[in-house]
Amino acid sequence: MPKTIIVSNRLPVKIQDNDGQLLLKPSEGGLATGLGSIYKTDGNVWIGWPGQAIDEDNKTTVNEQLKELSLIPVYLTQDDISQFYEGFSNEVLWPVFHYYASTYTTYKPSHWDYYQSVNQKFKEAILAVAEPNDTIWIHDYQLLLLPELIRAERPDVSIGFFLHIPFPSHEMFRLIPWRSELLQGMLGADLVGFHTFDDVRHFLSAVSRLLPMPISSNIIACKDRYVVAESFPMGIDNKKYEDAVSDPDVQEQMQQIKDVFKESKLILSIDRLDYSKGILQRLQAFELMLQQHPEYIGKVTLYMVVVPSRDKVPQYAELRNQIDKRVGNINSMYRTMDWTPVNYFYRSVPFETLAALYASAEVCLVTPMRDGMNLVSKEYIASRVNNDGVLILSEMAGASRELIDALIVNPNNIIQVKDAIIQALNMPLDEQNARMQQMRQVVSKFNVAHWVDLFMERLNEVKLMQRSMQTRHVEGSTKQSIINRYKSTSKRLIFLDYDGTLVDFQPNVNQAVPDSDLYSILNELMLDPANHLVLISGRKHENLNEWFGDKNIYLIAEHGAWFKQQGMEWHKVNGLSTTWKPELFDIMQKYVDRTPGSFIEEKSYSLVWHYRKAQKGLGELRANELMNTLKYLATDKGLQLLPGDKVVEVKNMEINKGKAALGLVDQGDYDFIMALGDDLTDEDTFKALPDNSVTIKVGSGSSAAKFYLRNPSEVRQLLRALSINSTIGQE
Ligand code: UDP
Repeated sequence: MPKTIIVSNRLPVKIQDNDGQLLLKPSEGGLATGLGSIYKTDGNVWIGWPGQAIDEDNKTTVNEQLKELSLIPVYLTQDDISQFYEGFSNEVLWPVFHYYASTYTTYKPSHWDYYQSVNQKFKEAILAVAEPNDTIWIHDYQLLLLPELIRAERPDVSIGFFLHIPFPSHEMFRLIPWRSELLQGMLGADLVGFHTFDDVRHFLSAVSRLLPMPISSNIIACKDRYVVAESFPMGIDNKKYEDAVSDPDVQEQMQQIKDVFKESKLILSIDRLDYSKGILQRLQAFELMLQQHPEYIGKVTLYMVVVPSRDKVPQYAELRNQIDKRVGNINSMYRTMDWTPVNYFYRSVPFETLAALYASAEVCLVTPMRDGMNLVSKEYIASRVNNDGVLILSEMAGASRELIDALIVNPNNIIQVKDAIIQALNMPLDEQNARMQQMRQVVSKFNVAHWVDLFMERLNEVKLMQRSMQTRHVEGSTKQSIINRYKSTSKRLIFLDYDGTLVDFQPNVNQAVPDSDLYSILNELMLDPANHLVLISGRKHENLNEWFGDKNIYLIAEHGAWFKQQGMEWHKVNGLSTTWKPELFDIMQKYVDRTPGSFIEEKSYSLVWHYRKAQKGLGELRANELMNTLKYLATDKGLQLLPGDKVVEVKNMEINKGKAALGLVDQGDYDFIMALGDDLTDEDTFKALPDNSVTIKVGSGSSAAKFYLRNPSEVRQLLRALSINSTIGQE
């Protein structure tokens, strides 16, 4: 039976050395907690680093202990740990992805070398156990290169990738010297998942700016596959927290908390030690409250757990010192004989204690500067079985997109956080209940099982989409059957679009001139008397005339406004109105004035606004604005609006490629009709042609065409294969 292989930097357990005896202990962190309840079923395995360097002598014992738990270790050396883990992952990727990159961030090539070699180690471990139909689910920023490494060895395997930290804006991401390699690595997956839609947007924008890959909505057309990027907000095992509240052990600890803190209200704060968590700013807000509102002295306690993490990285050690100092200051300033303002613990706490704290605290204060999701906030909600309690949540945490009934704050705004604490402490029970009920529904519905199901379901769908695209792709047997049909026919009509179909788009429209290779392909096709070639383009007739006027090709220019039979003069469709042009020209001119790099092209029955050379993003924005501005006016005047590749064209409704094509089809008794085109105007041709025609869309995106090719180079290969096959009679 096919299995799922979960891969993450850390295994969900860590190994601790107790006087020579190696013990397995659950490890902290959102991922370990989240997937912990899933991986043990159905022969699934989890591959990862056990958390520390292990001596050769001990590896066999450790391997056996791990095997019993369906875990497979990847061992890292001390150098791997310091260069790959602490160096590249935690001193480059983590800060950049959390918007903490600064002029002090160093991008050491040796860190990058280790990052690559450790990703290779993970690849080897996966390949040792992966079977053809398995699904591989790779997690997080330490393994960004892994999807592509696996893909290179196993082109057909299903690979999902999930990033648990934010994906930063392109402006941050581009700082990394190896940014393109990192993106390529991620795109080895079939489905790339993020916590929030903002992360998806940032990722797509980085791909579109750094790699030459077409993207349509959230689908990226890679070299040989379509990759989907989507958001899947991660949930928690909510039942575990709900049930814990009635556990006798937890109940006992809740009673102890009550006995110790008596009438004092508890504000709970739980994080791993990390500068992205906003711990210092949180202390500042709490201190400000005590300063400005002495009435809370003795009545409110901040219960702060900081779980040790990455303390070998200098910034973390420094942060720990700062927290110690700040807590010391607050406590020495405000403590009374029987009350300590901040109860601070620098250690991890057992699950029962955590559950008792969640269930006891009147307020939970979660104010990270940046956080991919933040599970603590969801665990607090799940633990509030009586629907009371208040969550204060940073808008910079992914969870804030779902937990909209929390008191949402900007963690940099200390005054706002202080005010939110006061609001929380005084919130009427009715309001607490109303907010908490809403949030509990969200946490319960979008729990971790739902997250896993949704991701896996989508990964399957993406695989199916890829397969159906494969059968539509003119390649292999599909290509051969088109060639066979071509060979067996004797009167063929072949429609060819020009830009984006026979030649690639160029920054300047005038650069897209036909090259000698194209001429030779067309000449070969023309040599066969069975072929009737039609060039059907949106270009001006002057252009087509200059390039193909003397060829044995029927030319259709300006989407069907002009046509020229071989050896004859050009004709224009007459009697169409052009009175609309001045008004539309004036509107477009305003967009030219506001958008550097754009210009207007005038044709007989259409106006085109070109923005290929405008700043990326700005052109698209203006194009949308222009489309909105022209929408009603165009309908009123009997015009059609056509968004194309970096153009917006307005043309007379009566003219379209479909009508022009049909006119030619009706003139002959053809036994093979084929059309190739890349944009919206070609859709008219595809739709107009008889059912048995071979219609081929060039590029990604939905289409009425039966087949597709990826780019002009594939179009040329097909056309070459057709003429070779018909003249020589073999492939
Ligand atoms: N946690 C833990 N031990 C502790 C305190 C907390 O394992 O002593 C868990 C907590 O329950 C939560 C996770 O650590 O599931 C922290 O996840 P979060 O998404 O909030 O932050 P991350 O550590 O992933 O940045």
